[in-house]
This record gives sequence, C-alpha cells and structure tokens, in this order.
Amino acid sequence: TADSAKSFLRRNTFVLFTITAVLLGIILAFSLRPYQLTYRQIKYFSFPGELLMRMLQMLVLPLIVSSLITGMASLDGRASGKMGMRAVVYYMVTTIIAVFIGILMVIIIHPGKGSKDKLHREGRIEQVQTTDAFMDLVRNMFPPNLVEACFKQTQYSTRVFTRTVLHSSNVTAGVTSTPIPAPENITGILENITHALGTISEVLTFEEVIPIPGSANGVNALGLVVFSMCFGLVIGSMKQKGRALREFFNCLNEAIMRLVAIIIWYAPVGIMFLIAGKILEMDDLAVMGGQLGMYTLTVIVGLLIHALCILPLLYFIVTHRNPWVFIAGLLQALITALGTSSSSATLPITFRCLEENNGVDRRITRFVLPVGATINMDGTALYEALAAIFIAQVNNYELDFGQIITISITATAASIGAAGIPQAGLVTMVIVLTSVGLPTEDITLIIAVDWFLDRLRTTTNVLGDSLGAGIVEHLSRHELDAQDCELGNCEPGKE
Ligand code: ASP
Repeated sequence: TADSAKSFLRRNTFVLFTITAVLLGIILAFSLRPYQLTYRQIKYFSFPGELLMRMLQMLVLPLIVSSLITGMASLDGRASGKMGMRAVVYYMVTTIIAVFIGILMVIIIHPGKGSKDKLHREGRIEQVQTTDAFMDLVRNMFPPNLVEACFKQTQYSTRVFTRTVLHSSNVTAGVTSTPIPAPENITGILENITHALGTISEVLTFEEVIPIPGSANGVNALGLVVFSMCFGLVIGSMKQKGRALREFFNCLNEAIMRLVAIIIWYAPVGIMFLIAGKILEMDDLAVMGGQLGMYTLTVIVGLLIHALCILPLLYFIVTHRNPWVFIAGLLQALITALGTSSSSATLPITFRCLEENNGVDRRITRFVLPVGATINMDGTALYEALAAIFIAQVNNYELDFGQIITISITATAASIGAAGIPQAGLVTMVIVLTSVGLPTEDITLIIAVDWFLDRLRTTTNVLGDSLGAGIVEHLSRHELDAQDCELGNCEPGKE
C-alpha cells in the first residue's frame, strides 16, 4: 500500500503547510501592526491573498455548472430524486437546529442588555416583508437570463418597495435621485444606509444603497444550480442522444478539477496573506469590550456548539463512523473557509478534500456540494437569528413568541438566499430585521466584528456541507452500489 502511504503523506503535507501558513500569517501581522501600515501598504501586503480569492472564484462558476450537470446526468432519475430528498432533509434539519441554537444562546447569554431607549415602532414603514424575501428566493431560482445569472443575483422586492414608498410618502424626485456614491465595501454600504435613514428620515432608497447580496462578484448560484440540475437530468434521460453533452460536461469537470489541483499548491501562501492582511486592517481590539464582546462570544459559543457537537454527533448517529477522522480530512477546506470567508470560493477545495482525502463518491460530491454551498448555510442561519435578537435586546425591545418564530423562518430564508461570499449574511440581515420591525440601521452596531464572525460562520457552513455529503453518501450506498452493478462494476458483498 505504497500508494495509500503516499497519499497520506501528501494529504498531511498540505494540511501542515496550511496550518504553518496560518500561524506565520498571524505572527507576521502582529509583528507588523505596531508600524501602523497605511491602507495602501496593507493592500500591497495582502495582494497575494487577493489573488488566491480571485483564482478560486474564477473556478466556481464552471465548477458548479459542470459538476451538477455531470452529477445529475450520471444518476438515474429515481436515484437522484432519493438522494436529493436526503440532502434537502439534512439541510433543513441542520439549518433549523442551527437557528434554534442561535436563539437559545442569545436568550441565555443575553449579550445585549438594553442600552438604547425603548424602540418606538410607530410610524416605521414596513419595508421588506417576509413574503417578499421568499418570493425573491424563488424568483432567483428561475433566472430569466442565464448569462445574467452568471454574474448577478437580483433582488426584486426592494424595487417594488422603493416605488411603494415613494408613492406613499410623496417625495420629490429630487431627493431620491441624488446619486449615492457606490460604496466600496460593506461598511460603506451600511454607512450609506445610516446616512440615508438619518437624512431622508423614513424614505429608504434601498435600491440605490443596498446592493444585491453577492452583487460584488456574485453569481446567481441558486438559479444556476436549479438550471444545471434540470439540464443534467434531461441529458441523463436522453440516453445515447445525450452522450456528447454528457461527455462534454464530464470533461469540463475533470479539467476544472485539474486546475484546482494546481491552485491548491498556492493556497497556503494566499491564505497566509489573506489572514495577515485582515489582522493588519482590523480595528483595535478595544472595540470588543462590553456588549459587542459579549455578542461576539455568544456567536462563537453558538457556532462551536453547532460545528463541534451537533454536526459531528449527527454524522456519527447516521453513519456510525468517527466524525473526527472525516473532519481531519477536511482541514484544508476549513482553513480556506476561514481565510477567504466565502463558502463558494472554498468550494473547489472542499471538492478536493472530500474526494481525495475522504474518498466520498464523486456521484455524491458533484451533486450535493454545489447545492450545499449555495443553500445550506448553518452558520449564517444561526448568526442571523442570533444577531437579530441581539439588536432587539440592545433596543430593549421585547420580542413575543410569534416574532421569534418569524425571525427563525426569515433567518432560514436569508441563509438560503445569501450568496456564499464574504459578509453576504450581513446584508441579508435586513430581511430578518424588517420582518419584525427592528431598525435596519442597527446593523452598524455589529459591523466592527462581522469580518471575524463571518469567517467562523463560513467555516461552519463548509463543515455542514461536507458532513452532509458524507451522510448522504452513507444513506445512498444502496443506490450507488446498484448503479455500479448495472455498469458491471459489481463488487459482491460490498455494502
Ligand atoms: N460568508 C458566508 C459564506 O460564504 C456567508 C455569510 O456572510 O454568512 O458562507
């Protein structure tokens, strides 16, 4: 078994490289911090990290499309239906548990002991309603233009909303057409929101100030996932006639995975600079004092419980296998998630870890991972519910049971709708807050720590997707073996 020894060594070399890189990055950054580098210098410094981000993102689109189409085309309709059901049940169950843990933690720890005056709700305009958020989610599943879906996710309801508000408050066109400079980052966006809220009082020109989640570099992954799945299914059902397309996408998928294998060598360097750059950029840790510190702690505890207790336990209960061995194989992906704070940029690495290290069947990964990275975000769901309740606590605003249920539902929807890109969850928080009438401008309260919490929730998201792939594979063993037999690769006694 020289081969397995070799692959073991290779796997561990990478993990070792990556861990060393992270440590080096942290040491480097903290030793440079006293020099107070300028923004420009930090940008130069983190450039190698930015390049890693771009390389990974470059692969995401062809990877999602080719792997889903190939995955669906290689399974027969009944088998993929069953696997799909299992995956969806897993996603729903884990997301609901995550939301529940988030709510429980924030209620028990109560980080936001009231400090503001009691919130006055009178006169607040209902902005986006829960139904709008759901309709947007479903709308995005069916992109009218596939090319546009490759670079843009659309948020329709805010447009409708803008119009309604303009009508009802009778605002002159002059106010709303004042161009607001395009914000550079999320902080800019939220400053703009606050600015807009402060100066134009109740008039929210959301369409201008809140970019669509993921619009920075976002693809409408949900729309592409739905299309690719249907397309793959159809190609699969075309038997001989569909062969050319099947082979084309299969080949594309292989080629992309080879590119991933090359980029993976660069990953530790990129991650080192990504992490170091972020540490150089961050504000003084003093902001973490008081409420915000407690809030950060609450989120960390919630995420840890979900990622290190609930998910591994679930994996163990279903598969009777050691979850830690499985998680060890994922380390590279988890660290990449920590470094990039984007589950979709991490996707190529997640694929590799699951297939190469954990030996998960490619028919499963191709099918389950792109969907998981797009809709299954346990960490984000936990975070959104927790953060919304924290904001209510800060405002001394008592939420009743119905409102907590509303928060759980909208947090779930917001996590499904959030793109797998940095801080997308912060933007989709608007939906959760408005659904229960909490002030959206209070998102600014938690921005200071979001870059950090984003990394942790992204890691949880990736872990959830990966363990899900392991669980679905285990449950689908029967169908996979049956298909192997049909193809003449039957291994008697294999179960
Ligand atoms: N950054 C997260 C992800 O990519 C999404 C979020 O902001 O919660 O999974």
